[in-house]
This record gives sequence, C-alpha cells and structure tokens, in this order.
Amino acid sequence: TAIQHSMPVPPGSWLGMVGGGQLGRMFCHAAQSLGYKVAVLDPAAGCPAGGVADRHIQAAYDDPTALELLGSLCAAVSTEFENVPADSLRRLARHCAVSPSGDAVAVVQDRILEKAFITQAGVPVAPYCAVTDRSHIAQAPANLFPGILKAARLGYDGKGQARVTSREAALEAFDAFGGVPCVLEAMLPLADEISVVMARGYDDACVVYTPAHNEHRDGILAVSTVDPAAVQARQSLYAQAAQAARRIAGQLDYRGVLCVEFFILDDGSLVANEIAPRPHNSGHHTINACVSSQFDQQVRVMTGLPLGSAHSHSASVMLNILGDLWFDAAGQTREPDWAGVLRFDHAHLHLYGKAEARKGRKMGHITVTGATLGQAREQAAGVARVLG
Ligand code: ADP
Ligand code: MG
Repeated sequence: TAIQHSMPVPPGSWLGMVGGGQLGRMFCHAAQSLGYKVAVLDPAAGCPAGGVADRHIQAAYDDPTALELLGSLCAAVSTEFENVPADSLRRLARHCAVSPSGDAVAVVQDRILEKAFITQAGVPVAPYCAVTDRSHIAQAPANLFPGILKAARLGYDGKGQARVTSREAALEAFDAFGGVPCVLEAMLPLADEISVVMARGYDDACVVYTPAHNEHRDGILAVSTVDPAAVQARQSLYAQAAQAARRIAGQLDYRGVLCVEFFILDDGSLVANEIAPRPHNSGHHTINACVSSQFDQQVRVMTGLPLGSAHSHSASVMLNILGDLWFDAAGQTREPDWAGVLRFDHAHLHLYGKAEARKGRKMGHITVTGATLGQAREQAAGVARVLG
C-alpha cells in the first residue's frame, strides 16, 4: 500500500542515499548546500561519500535493520548505482519516498528486460537476442556476428563483456561467464556516442540536458564533450535523442535523474544502448557548465522541489581521472601534478577522496569550461599534457 509523503520535504530534513561512491559523494554536496542532512548506506568503510555524509550507515545493501534505520530516519531516499537490490528500494518505500522506484531500477539493471523495454517504448536498439541457454547462441541470427556478448546483470565499464566474431567464440564466452543470462548484440559501426541526462519530477515535469559526446578507452568513459553552440546544427539528432529519453522515462514512470546512452551509426541513425537510473559520469559537466547540476536535480526530484534549468551556460570538456595516473612508466607510485592542472584557469578539479589508486579506478574528473568549445578544448589539451 502506498503511503502519503508530504512534499516538498523541507531543508533540514534527512535524505538517504543508497550507495556511497563518487556519485553519492557529489549528491551529498548538492543536498547539503540546499540545507539537507544526508545518510549514506554503503558496506565499505572509507567510501567516497562516507566522509562527506552527515551519517554513514555501514551495512550491506540488503541488511533489513540498516534499511529500517535509513527509511525511518529519512524523508526521501535515492540511489547512485543501478545494482542496488530492487527489493531494498521496495522495502524502503514502506517508510519514505523512494526515487527511482524499485520497479524502474529492476528493469534497467537487467539488460534483457532493459532492451525489451526500450524496444516496446518505440526506440531502436542494436539487433540482439537474449541468451539464457547455449542453444540460443546456436539459433542466433547470422547478423549478430561479429557481436558482443554482455552479461545481463552487474556489468559496468565494459566488464562482463566479450567481443565475439563467431558462434563458437560466443559459446566459449558464454561458458566463461558461467552460463549466466546474457544478451548477444551485433557489433555496430559507431560514428559517435552520445548520452542524454534528464530529470523527471513527481509532477511529471522534465528537464533534459544538452547531449554529451562520449569517448571511451578500454570500455571506460574517458572524455565527454558538450557544445551548446552546436545545438542548432545538430537539432534533429538531439531532438530525437531527447524525445527517446523522455519517452523511456515516461513509460518507466521514472522519478529522478536518468541517463540514456546512444550510439550514432555511420549512416547517422540513432540507437539506444543502455539506461542508467541515476546521475551519470557523462553528466559531471553539469556541475560547472550548467545552471543546475544533475545532483542538484536529484535532490530537487526526491524532495518535490521545482527542477532547475538544464541550460548549458558554457561549453565543456570533461576528462576522467583514472588511478593509472598514480603510476609512472616504471610502475612506481606518484602524485599527479594538480597545481599544474589548475594553472589552466578554466579547469575544475574534482577528486573523490579514494584512499587507494588502482589502474582503471575512477579517482576524479576535471571539467574544463569555455565560452566556446574551442577554448575549452585548448585548455583541456594543456591539462592532458600536464597529466601525461
Ligand atoms: P557498460 O555497462 O560497461 O557501459 P556498454 O553496453 O555501454 O556497457 O558498452 C561499453 C562500450 O562498448 C560502449 O560505450 C561502446 O563504446 C562499446 N559497445 C557496446 N556495445 C556495442 C555495440 N553493439 N557495437 C559497438 N560498440 C559497442
Ligand atoms: Mg555504457
């Protein structure tokens, strides 16, 4: 049974965040600047949000006592990672307002459900088939090769994926994944990748950010670029992407911040790749280059406050900072030259406070803003040179 929540939730109240990674940390900053107190649920001591939150509940994401505590302390709860158990969100919803809902998260955390959902929303996806048994690979249409086999659950940053050129290779990869449910999708000729971050409130109001153009290295987002001056020229593409994102959010009855990743194919057509039910790495530019950040919007949605403007007041280039930068060519550890980075006066440095640098681990990001994308690119190139 649905309980009534009084909205808007007044500043001074407690907000809950399931997950204490960097997205949870940046959520804390936004919530606290609006006067809220934040309790973070995360099993890890010293997690990035733990030291920033007003309270860290250190427990498993499905710990009933911890969920009870979080739900009764907080007026509203949100999450920062899609692999949160959907049942934990459903359980929290007995106590407080929860956005997004466990039902919405359950769809997007399973690639089989996600792809079927996007398709029935009328948005194209890559040709694919669900694989829950070896026979599904044997029967897969020929146009899925060469393809990518992706574990249906728990993948991120290219993990749980194998590029396969043949049926035999797909079978091998399926076995190597331990026979877990997967999707097999055709490898598409990508001209570009873009993502749309948007927020949708309890009153169905939506704001949609300008799409970011994303470059990945080794399956991890490396650079994300937003050019407000190009919106006019790319109007039809951007409108298509924004409309697809809105349709997906509407049909999911989604509340909160959501990101839809798209592929742009060689022929210019747009294909949806995946949905993240939370703020997204490609939306970090919104902190420094937009009127309201994606984290600010997350707070506004969950508290029932009006959404802020998604307008990009600056062009931006966002560079992810991975743990690799803490190691020199000989494998010795070093501290990156932050003063050198900040000599570029449009560089905004965000470090996540992670104690240990590991290769491939997201340690922070730098958003370089500019009046034009050319200016932002110029300083970003300088920053990249300093970081080596
Ligand atoms: P993750 O959950 O790790 O982000 P994605 O499905 O987004 O997984 O895949 C990661 C990256 O791999 C994509 O951003 C894209 O660069 C590449 N990729 C994924 N699927 C395809 C595909 N069907 N065709 C071509 N490239 C793909
Ligand atoms: Mg992705």
